Amino acid sequence: MLAQSYHAEYAWVDGGVVRDVRIDVADGRITAVTPDSPPPPGATRLAGLTLPGFANAHSHAFHRALRGRAQGRGTFWSWRERMYALAGRLDPDQYHALARATYAEMALAGVTCVGEFHYLHHPPDGASYDDPNEMAHTLVAAAAEAGIRITLLDTLYLTSTVDGGELVGPQRRFGDTSVDAWADRVARLAVPSHARVGVAAHSVRAVPAPLLPEVVAVAAGRPLHVHLSEQPAENEACLARYGRTPTQVLAEAGALGPATTAVHATHLSDVDITLLGGSRTTVCLCPTTERDLGDGIGPARALADAGCPLALGSDSHAVIDMCEEARAVELDERLRSQQRGHFAVADLVDAATRRGHAALGWTDAGSIAVGARADLVTVRLDTVRTAGYDDPVAAVLFAATAADVTDVMVDGRPIVHNGRHQLVEDVPGALASAIKAVWK
Ligand code: ZN
Repeated sequence: MLAQSYHAEYAWVDGGVVRDVRIDVADGRITAVTPDSPPPPGATRLAGLTLPGFANAHSHAFHRALRGRAQGRGTFWSWRERMYALAGRLDPDQYHALARATYAEMALAGVTCVGEFHYLHHPPDGASYDDPNEMAHTLVAAAAEAGIRITLLDTLYLTSTVDGGELVGPQRRFGDTSVDAWADRVARLAVPSHARVGVAAHSVRAVPAPLLPEVVAVAAGRPLHVHLSEQPAENEACLARYGRTPTQVLAEAGALGPATTAVHATHLSDVDITLLGGSRTTVCLCPTTERDLGDGIGPARALADAGCPLALGSDSHAVIDMCEEARAVELDERLRSQQRGHFAVADLVDAATRRGHAALGWTDAGSIAVGARADLVTVRLDTVRTAGYDDPVAAVLFAATAADVTDVMVDGRPIVHNGRHQLVEDVPGALASAIKAVWK
């Protein structure tokens, strides 16, 4: 049995901040949490605020290669053309290097588990690799090398338009020939213990409504994710085709519920919000991507009031900073309403930790509690951004950045120590070389 003790200056326990917390860990699990405790002999000191591990519930790892390129101009649709150009280039080795570096960046930001919404399945001609799951296995291996857990959300992507247009250009890499072919491939996806398999329907645009019940059957209670109403154009096309909103289409297909996560949920009607909340569908907000792409501000407060658990994702990785995603949920509501105080800080921490892990199928992660997976993220309170605080969690949620994360533990294993990744030597260098190789 591998046992270790930690002593946190402050820790987030049971929805609040407590001081001088002894945290005992054995075999990857938390075995004791003792506030107001003197440091035990041999304990590792965690200076700052220690939070449960962050879950990044929505990622497309390859989009990291778009950062700092064409961000200053264009529309969602011109960005998508650039993304397709990137998607058309990646081979498995390039993707491996890029995902490993991107997941290492996530670890440095305190992410202990990622939900990879994976649709880059096949070679550019749309055929199949010798191992039809080669790209998925590449992503799972990259997460292991970066020291984080992954839920591989294997994504069904069949059509280019809501009217059933065939896949063209780089989209051919995304598509399986049928729901059955996709389900067969997913069934053959075997993953090690740091990984889990979930499924996704890319969107109501890419999966025809009559096929959605089959997707629900394949999911069989595993996490089921779907992009929902990110752009008004998606709603308009869906209404024209089906006479219903995307949310209504999903509801009628039986695709909403506690195992489902709707990603974005930006442009919703009141009926949509009632359907999502009443079914206890999780909504994964991706505020830094939604702002970067000019998507709009999702109705986060109304969704939470209706009954939706909220999770967070960095999606296109315009930045990877879960503190920034969390604070944006509150701050975007302030901009819209011209009022402050929509979410308690506990709700924002919950979205970044427990709710996100649950949306990815890891219901035993995301809290500092006995029996939970030993995922710990320590954020310094003496940096230029956080110094002078009165309320440690407010300092972290409203002012800290990923650069203030010093120590990260995943399943009891130290992955980041003193701000340095313990498995990937030079993360900026790994990112730069992986991205250079893709675009050369
Ligand atoms: Zn996405």
